[in-house]
Amino acid sequence: MSDKKVRVRFAPSPTGGLHLGGVRTVLFNYLFAKKHGGDFVLRIEDTDQSRYVKGAEEYILECLEWCGLIPDESPVAGGRYAPYRQSERKAIYREYAERLVMQGHAYYAFDTPEELERNRHEIPNFQYGHAYRDTLRNSLTLTQHQVDQLLDAGEPHVIRIKMPENEHIHFNDMIRGNVSFETGQSDDKVLLKADGMPTYHLAVVIDDYLMKITHAFRGEEWLPSAPVHLLLWEYLGWKADMPQWAHLPLILKPDGHGKLSKRDGARLGFPVYAMSWFDERTGELTPGFRELGFLPEAFLNLLAMLGWNDGTDSEIFTLGELVEKFSIERVNKAGAKFDFEKAKWFNSEWIRKSEARSLKPEVIKVLAGKGIVVTDDDFLLKVIDLVKERCILLPDFFHQLSYFFEQPKEYDLASVKPKWTDAKTEFFISFIGILAKTEDISAAGLEQAFKALAEEKAIKAGELMLPFRIMLVGGKFGPHVFDIAVLLGKAETIERIEKALETFKS
Ligand code: GLU
Repeated sequence: MSDKKVRVRFAPSPTGGLHLGGVRTVLFNYLFAKKHGGDFVLRIEDTDQSRYVKGAEEYILECLEWCGLIPDESPVAGGRYAPYRQSERKAIYREYAERLVMQGHAYYAFDTPEELERNRHEIPNFQYGHAYRDTLRNSLTLTQHQVDQLLDAGEPHVIRIKMPENEHIHFNDMIRGNVSFETGQSDDKVLLKADGMPTYHLAVVIDDYLMKITHAFRGEEWLPSAPVHLLLWEYLGWKADMPQWAHLPLILKPDGHGKLSKRDGARLGFPVYAMSWFDERTGELTPGFRELGFLPEAFLNLLAMLGWNDGTDSEIFTLGELVEKFSIERVNKAGAKFDFEKAKWFNSEWIRKSEARSLKPEVIKVLAGKGIVVTDDDFLLKVIDLVKERCILLPDFFHQLSYFFEQPKEYDLASVKPKWTDAKTEFFISFIGILAKTEDISAAGLEQAFKALAEEKAIKAGELMLPFRIMLVGGKFGPHVFDIAVLLGKAETIERIEKALETFKS
């Protein structure tokens, strides 16, 4: 690698929510930059006003924040190469487009949208390129005088690249190796639009150059645009500074057939967006991983594993570990199948691995959403620790925890009533007596006393444990029942046994 400081960029167009693939692109850029002590730049590519969607930029910023992938330079953080929003850089681009015209690599085209539409209609497979450009209204067919007159009169026009008819070009992709193209297959892409805005193709090259980008990871869907970009780098005389490209493989549908789309998520019942996205134009709400209860650490971890591994069987990595271990050689060329069950597994592993203290704010939100207000912090930390290994998604904390804060409203009577006996009632009455006398209760001590009493009463302890659990929790779930009793405390445990007995024995 050269000794230039590594600079990568994520360059989204603000057209909607961020798909899994978009965040994975951010992540791989970020990992590569941080691994090499470089900078991560966020640039908003908003030159296509017709595709601009309100709220999308804010969404992108919030999403990066949620994931903890904080750009070193961005429209909000600023930076040496500001502005980072292409619409605010409009004045920069025309000069370069005109330079290309002067050099003969681009030309003015005056064709009206109606004329182009007619051509598309009348000529099968019409492309504005080497086959037809000589028959259209542009600076290649008009005289210099005519062109000057049209420009002076303010005639609407675009600037198009003049793609060579027959050239073979190639570049070395960091993931795919040598990639080559025949230039004649591409049309003469518009570089500068009639409204004076650059298209993506022109702006991406100029900004990557001016912002001194050295490497760029982007989705495979951008590969067909690469020849146009390569030529622009060359024509503008910047080829030696062209970033090294890495086109990331697609994220595939669970069955491996085709690219994972928003519709697949809706069809198969899982999110494909990082965070929920509400489209004001359509009123459609697309669910997100965050709202479903994924931890950002888990989300990043699962995205990293979609197309990369560290060469061992390890799958759980912190962001810091990913930075340390990331290597471009271990990024797969083939598409990665998305498996929602596996995604949930990552989340459950991360919930289990996280400190109660770091889970607390999220758990408080989950409980508050269901009307439970937590006042005792220490108690909450203890119960989080006790149940976290049973939670797959954050909302599971409600089911796993709510009984610590409110007495069961219902009991799983079907599991106790048919086998209930007077002897069992007597057992629990005696157990209340023991509990009441015990000074300092521990889970092990309680279990021992419970079992000893069961033996004395000649009832199998196993037949009493489930009812005891249902008395405290309401159902057949939760951690070790004596741990629950200890956390509930003596008075509350006694109260719950007494209350449940009324129902069980009636
Ligand atoms: N603006 C493009 C997008 O929306 C960026 C593609 C690139 O990274 O070159 O994805």
